[in-house]
Formats: sequence, structure tokens, C-alpha cells
Amino acid sequence: MAHHQQDYSDFKFATRAIHAGQEPDPVTGAVIPPISLSTTFAQEAAGVHKGYDYSRAGNPTRTAFETAVAALENGKHCLAYASGSVTTANVTGLLASGDHVVSVNDVYGGTFRYFTKVASNNGIDVTFVDLYNPENLRSAIKPNTKMIWVESPTNPTLRLVDIKAVAEIAHSYPNVFLVVDNTFMSPFFQNPLELGADVVVHSVTKYINGHSDCVMGVAITNREDLYARLRFLQNSIGGVPSVFDCFLANRGLKTLHLRMKQHEANAIRIAHFLEASPLVSEVIYPGLPSHKQHELAKRQQKGFGGMLSFRLKNGNLETSNKFLSALNLFALAESLGGVESLAELPAVMTHASLTPEARAALGVTDSLIRMSVGIEDGDDLVADIKQALEKAVQL
Ligand SMILES: *Cc1c(COP(=O)(O)O)cnc(C)c1O
Repeated sequence: MAHHQQDYSDFKFATRAIHAGQEPDPVTGAVIPPISLSTTFAQEAAGVHKGYDYSRAGNPTRTAFETAVAALENGKHCLAYASGSVTTANVTGLLASGDHVVSVNDVYGGTFRYFTKVASNNGIDVTFVDLYNPENLRSAIKPNTKMIWVESPTNPTLRLVDIKAVAEIAHSYPNVFLVVDNTFMSPFFQNPLELGADVVVHSVTKYINGHSDCVMGVAITNREDLYARLRFLQNSIGGVPSVFDCFLANRGLKTLHLRMKQHEANAIRIAHFLEASPLVSEVIYPGLPSHKQHELAKRQQKGFGGMLSFRLKNGNLETSNKFLSALNLFALAESLGGVESLAELPAVMTHASLTPEARAALGVTDSLIRMSVGIEDGDDLVADIKQALEKAVQL
């Protein structure tokens, strides 16, 4: 694109969030990138233009957002898509029929569905592996393996994958690239490109937009070869976001650092409160010293985020339903990463499509509650959880 954006790579996160890709409009001086609705752009002569010809291929509002997100992930290139899911589809589009993928076993449900019900129809074979021990990757790699797909922490049991260790193993094979879905951490708390990932993806729908009002995705990479292919696929498949959504997400990301700090502060408070409660049998939060991979979390993440899960003592479906309906501030809802607190029952909601055996293997019991902790006042959130626990759990 014919854009001469200032390089913000020497600046810290908050400065990049506010300034990268956001230079005042050269024509009007507008401080906020305008919502550029035009689908087509006048050319000076045939093929001579200012970097834009048709909005599916490129749009100034989208460029502003992509530039900002690339800066937040310390990446060179970012591509924005109409959802996290079509981002997954475009990245998988880098492969051809006959190629093989190794994916972490407790991958996001929609990614599992795409790999097993869509990519498989296009001749792409996917093996799901428990990567708690990164060495498990070695035995899963085949001569036709092209892509490794991981998420860390995973959903809803917040298991971590050692991204650096996985990247080293992946890169010891020729032509294998590593994709990390960084949705749960956001670019503020984890930067997988620095740990060796080739491509980072996010569901922007979650923390990056952060206000639960638009569905969008991004892919970020430093690799010129993958970027060129992805740009081609973005235009060819056409799963591009609306410019209004680009504007919303761009506005959202300017407060990402402030929001993530508050999500985390509230989550830590709630995690400690739950751990001390006799009405709770287990709390799963990477920021707790009791989390099995707490040391890895401290090493590879810059914080612990706003997602936590826990099990009600003596819990079953009935107790869980009682607890969820007794909550006043936490909305009973799927999704995550917005300013408002949400609670859900994975066994019945986000993970209902798994078989009971698969749920049991992942530890998704009927007593497991997942929370996306919002940025409300922490005292109010703890008080709400306390009264709901007292109503629901009998010792
Ligand atoms: C929500 C989500 C996705 C899918 O993103 P959409 O924007 O809903 O299409 C992918 N990965 C993770 C970890 C998610 O939470």
C-alpha cells in the first residue's frame, strides 16, 4: 500500500496502541482514521492509483486497523478478516490437498469443527495431540506435515502449551510452520511471534475489540512468503471485515492495555477468593501458584489474563444451573473478552458438541464453570459470586 506510516516499533505497548497506523488524515487532518466506505477508488491513469483500487483487495480503514494490530504483536504484517473462523479458513488455505496438520487436542471448538468437517473434505488430514509435553509433537509429525496449530491457554481448562519448545521442534522439520491462536491472552499478555510462531491469529471478537459488538479476526506474520500468500487468499476468498467493524475494533484496541490490566486484576482477586472458599473444589487460573503450569505461564506470558474456570464442591448439573442463575452481574453467555463479566457452563454450552467421553478426557465436568471476568468493580464481582455460591452449593 502507498502508505508511509511512521515506525512505532521502538515505543511501548500503550503508545503503539494509540498511534500505530493512526496518523492524521493527509487530506483533512482528521485525527481519527475516517470510515472509508467507498468500494472503489479513482485512478489517475489505468493502473496508477494511491494504493487502493477495490475495497475487497484493500481499504484505508482496514489498513489503519491492520497496521495497529501488527504493531501490537510486534509483527510486520497483519491481515483482517470477517471473523476469527474465516481467519482459520484462510490460514488453512495455505495448505493443499494431501497435506497434514498437527493440532493441540483441546483446540477452540470452531477450529476443531473446521478441521474435522471442512478441511478434511478438501483432503487435509489433521491429528489432534495432547501437547502438555511438547515432545508429543515429534511422534505426530509425518513427512507430509505442513502446519502445527496451537492455542495457549486452552479453553476451558486453561492448559498451557510451551510455545518456544513447540516452535523449536516444528522448525527442525523442513516446510513446517507454526500457528498460534492468541485470542485468550491478547497481544498485551503474550506475543507468540517472539516465541517462534510463524503466524499468530486472534478472534478480534474477543479482547482486541473488547466490547462484544463486532465479529472479526486477524492473522499476523513476519514471514514475507506467508504474508504474500495470505494477502492473495484474503482477496481471493473475500472474507473481509466491514469497514464499520474495522473502525469499531480500531477504537476498541486503543484501550486494550487498560482493559487487560483490569481484567487481570479482577481475575486474580476472584481466583484467590474462590481458592479460599470451602464451596469450591478446584480453581484453574494460570496466575495461581497452584496451577500446574504456573512457572511456564510466568515465563512465556506477560500476565495471566481474565479467563478462569472452577469446579463447584459436590457439584452436578443442578448445582451449576443454580449457581449460574443466582449470579446478578455475570451474564450467562458464551463468548469472552468483553468489558462485561460472563459466566457459562461448558458441558452444556461451548463444549456441548463434544462426546461425553471427549468432555471427560478434557476435564469438562458438569460442575465446571468458566468465567470471562470483566472490568467492573472487583468488590462487586466477588460479592456477586459469594452470594451465588451460598445459594447453590450444599456441603
Ligand atoms: C471465538 C474464538 C475463535 C473464533 O472466532 P470468531 O470470531 O467467533 O469466528 C477462535 N479461537 C478462539 C480461541 C476463540 O475464542
